[in-house]
Amino acid sequence: MIALSDFEILLIALGILYVASCVHMARYARRTGRNAWLWFFLTLLLTAVPVTLYFYVVYFLQRRRELSGPTGRLRRCPHCRRLISPGTPLGACPHCRMPLGDEVQDA
Ligand SMILES: [Zn+2]
Repeated sequence: MIALSDFEILLIALGILYVASCVHMARYARRTGRNAWLWFFLTLLLTAVPVTLYFYVVYFLQRRRELSGPTGRLRRCPHCRRLISPGTPLGACPHCRMPLGDEVQDA
């Protein structure tokens, strides 16, 4: 048996709810004389894309805020170009393990 976290259960429940709402839309379309499959996929696509974009932007902004921290500045490794959070000791890059020295650039 696979153990699921609360977040995964929430995601599965939202997924089921989402598909159920698309099925509901398709049944409504068929009842009103329209193509049920067309409206099912239209609902699926036209609601999934903006919702996905919205959550991606929210996640990206939150991650950037976490990395920049309340006082420090976000920095970039000169070797792998990935972002380094301000709390990280400046001995070596946490991503590529290359020595950083004084050449760390502001992001
Ligand atoms: Zn690096």
